[in-house]
Amino acid sequence: MRQDQIDALRNLSIAPQQLFIAGRHEPASAGTTLDVVSPLDGSRLTTLADAGAADVERAIIAARKAFDTGSWPRAAPAERKKVLHRIADLIEKHALELAVLGVRDNGTEIAMAYKAEPGSAAGTFRYYAEAVDKVHGEIAPTADNVLGLVHREPVGVVAAIVPWNFPLMIGAWKIAPALAAGNCVVLKPAETASLSLLRLAELCAEAGLPEGVLNVVTGRGAVAGEALGLHMDVDVLAFTGSGVTGRRLLEYSARSNLKRVYLELGGKSPNIVFADAPDLDLAAKISAQGIYRNSGQVCVAGSRLLVERSIREAFVAKVAAIAARMTVGDPLDLATEAGAVNSAAQLERNLAHVERAAAEGAVLVTGGRRILEETGGYYMQPTLFDAVHPDMALAREEVFGPVLAAIPFDDEADAVRIANATSYGLAAAVWTSSLSRAHRMVRAIKAGVVHVNTYGGADITVPLGGVRQSGNGHDKSLHALDKYTDLKTAWISL
Ligand code: NAD
Repeated sequence: MRQDQIDALRNLSIAPQQLFIAGRHEPASAGTTLDVVSPLDGSRLTTLADAGAADVERAIIAARKAFDTGSWPRAAPAERKKVLHRIADLIEKHALELAVLGVRDNGTEIAMAYKAEPGSAAGTFRYYAEAVDKVHGEIAPTADNVLGLVHREPVGVVAAIVPWNFPLMIGAWKIAPALAAGNCVVLKPAETASLSLLRLAELCAEAGLPEGVLNVVTGRGAVAGEALGLHMDVDVLAFTGSGVTGRRLLEYSARSNLKRVYLELGGKSPNIVFADAPDLDLAAKISAQGIYRNSGQVCVAGSRLLVERSIREAFVAKVAAIAARMTVGDPLDLATEAGAVNSAAQLERNLAHVERAAAEGAVLVTGGRRILEETGGYYMQPTLFDAVHPDMALAREEVFGPVLAAIPFDDEADAVRIANATSYGLAAAVWTSSLSRAHRMVRAIKAGVVHVNTYGGADITVPLGGVRQSGNGHDKSLHALDKYTDLKTAWISL
């Protein structure tokens, strides 16, 4: 990827976007649209169809028809594998186009977006393409006079509702295993990051995915999302987003058909640095990346920096120096380390958190302000507060922005107590040279993933999911297929 290739794509005009239902582009039936605003400069990029309940109904009918009578669920796994590989091929072929389109829509710095969005989405489709014919049923070890067959069946119609921070990557984590297992999908992207997923749906059709197997409804969460959540003919709802919406989806399920709801929610992840960390400079660098990449709009971001008291001053100063030096700005510049905040509303929320932390007595070490306002875009300085008390809002509430809270601790037990004093349980990290301590901490911390001497970094082969109020179920790995398959037993008397 070269800068001139990115620049050639950065100003292309984008046609008004329609819904994608049963293989066709269609406007919302009420003719309503939403503006797509670029976080890079506040300009209007294009419009999205603003789907209503009637549009969601059409999409679900298309998915149901494709599931009940279409070829996809009935195709031999080897056939589905070919189509999923072709989708991955097309994502790779159009990687730069997809990455730039997504960045113009959501503001992630391109160096990261290119890898995390088309790069990871292509890898995800390939992984589940290869899994299709390796995950199968069982013969149970019953008595001799019976045969217990355990079939794995697709669940039916899957609704996927995804957020704006990594739309292609998170979208693929849900769509690819659902399709691999033979389901039909209705996808609802976020209002502020729909463009790359609409393009993905076109590429899926080009790859040979039959009509109605993947449908995309764009629009407002409170309208289109709610209609999906309340629908009687959605079998499974897979969601990534905020806890507030996650709670609503559980309610919708209870009020409708008890559809299974899988939630990947937020976090307030502790990044714990002991004085015996093997390389404190490296720890500082990775800790800064672990909170400031994508302007902190990363569900697993290490947003609480727990530092052993003996090294606290020096270590916080190291991280602050890195934060202050970071290149924040044009997300389509390859040299940019942190791009734009996704929307004006998110920027306002971030700044409100900063104000509240200062009012509660946390000490602002660096950052804290909006910058580059003259561009019309939504940019914010990497921000670090020290002397954050575990009771302060900044230690408890997810910001989902480039704001790090440094909290001192005295010893291992104190670190565990503070780390677990949260309603979340998504990610964590421990920096130490002691193998025993690392293992003790991995056991003691309540989180879906505990990194040791690193932060972030993952692979499609390992599951991602939270405990406590960070959610349930897992994306990625073969475990994700459990969400999109039902077990059915045949009990046969011999
Ligand atoms: P959000 O919950 O507001 O929106 C997520 C999606 O839900 C969007 O598509 C939105 O349109 C839809 N939605 C909103 N209201 C709805 C409703 N009433 N009914 C149905 N759908 C509705 O969250 P967000 O602001 O887009 O994303 C940020 C949050 O997502 C953060 O809390 C972050 O931690 C979390 N997140 C978690 C992960 C993870 O893997 N655990 C990954 C990324 C983001």
